[in-house]
Amino acid sequence: LVDASYKRIAEVDDKVKAFLTLDEEHARQVAKEIDGKLGTDEQKGQLFGMPIGVKDNLVTKGLRTTCASQILDNFDPIYDATVVSKLKEAEAITIGKLNMDEFAMGSSNENSSYRATRNPWNIETVPGGSSGGSAAAVAAGEVLFSLGSDTGGSIRQPASFCGVVGLKPTYGRVSRFGLVAFASSLDQVGPITRTVEDNAYLLQAISGVDPMDSTSANVSVPNFAEGLTGDVKGLKIAVPKEYLGEGVQEDVKQSVLASLKVLEKLGATWEEVSLPHSKYALAAYYLLSSSEASANLARFDGVRYGYRTENPENLIDLYKKSRSEGFGDEVKRRIMLGTFALSSGYYDAYYKKAQKVRTLIKQDFENVFEKYDVIIGPTTPTPAFKIGEKTKDPLTMYANDILTIPVNLAGVPGISVPCGFSEGLPLGLQIIGKHFGESTVYRVAHAFE
Ligand code: GLN
Repeated sequence: LVDASYKRIAEVDDKVKAFLTLDEEHARQVAKEIDGKLGTDEQKGQLFGMPIGVKDNLVTKGLRTTCASQILDNFDPIYDATVVSKLKEAEAITIGKLNMDEFAMGSSNENSSYRATRNPWNIETVPGGSSGGSAAAVAAGEVLFSLGSDTGGSIRQPASFCGVVGLKPTYGRVSRFGLVAFASSLDQVGPITRTVEDNAYLLQAISGVDPMDSTSANVSVPNFAEGLTGDVKGLKIAVPKEYLGEGVQEDVKQSVLASLKVLEKLGATWEEVSLPHSKYALAAYYLLSSSEASANLARFDGVRYGYRTENPENLIDLYKKSRSEGFGDEVKRRIMLGTFALSSGYYDAYYKKAQKVRTLIKQDFENVFEKYDVIIGPTTPTPAFKIGEKTKDPLTMYANDILTIPVNLAGVPGISVPCGFSEGLPLGLQIIGKHFGESTVYRVAHAFE
């Protein structure tokens, strides 16, 4: 499998551009070491010998980790993220590190400071973002599995654009230790795979409480794959009218309605509901995520790690120049927005207000989940867009995440599964569950396979 993975990468990655760094020598060595164990009692790991790609914002010991930023261009971490250690325990083999928008800020991979990953379905279009490399690598058959991260849609939106399965777990389900922080109260690591079953196995391997992350939850981890019975009889589905409203392309709506028909045939029922505060989610998200980012990214000071400017005049000059030269435009835009929102004169008007809106959004979800098992809608308002189409106007780029962002604000789990095509480009169905309700989310998603 490892051979096949590198062979496929050699064949297609100059077009897809999913990988930033390959770990070929080491991966082949690990494969050789475990090869003799195949089929014996010593084959213990649940992902034994499976080639996997890892988003480049998860630290990997001794393996370059850049966050697709010039400021970390030369950064080789000295430890593994918890999820990476867990992959090793499961005996998966890391093939390399995957491209992304710089510091996970973006929806198209065009904010990578290295290169823009392409959508394997049509290389004139974007793969989505920020985990675009992770989704494209799985779609192009370069790896069987990958890990992404999702702060406002960065697993589900690229999964939707690339026709693969991507899950953002409940906040706290998976450890964030070793995930380079963007917005700590929203970030979650999650699996991107070809099938729902694979996704369940990968989530199983990376889940669980971690003493190194105080926000990881001490809840039991069910056997996710065991629940994939195909049975959705009696299941109650809510379809928010806000998710099929203005701005959502007609054929996207039609594919969601067709998917609901499939579930109805299998014995589920659905009703229209309202998540009335959805319209404020985008504004609240950009205030909160940028505020957190402005604090989190303060550590990149040109001293502790990463890029340092040459010949600074003094310490302040060193900070200023290292950060000005090391960060890209979108990252600077978020740091400035966040710093402004947190400044003493504006804190109440912006940050605090956005926190209150977040609570209202969370309550919207809680109200719906009192009566229904899952919420269903599209993952994105449109299929993948053309490279360059939205780069001039950050606000139209931000609007692409309008259907995924509320899920992060509420902290609940959400998956994107393929549900059709629009002019040859894949579409994704989003299934949202209750807190720690991944098993139900998977069960519904699996009904389509
Ligand atoms: N596109 C959104 C943003 O730029 C979400 C990114 C993410 O989930 N990491 O903030």
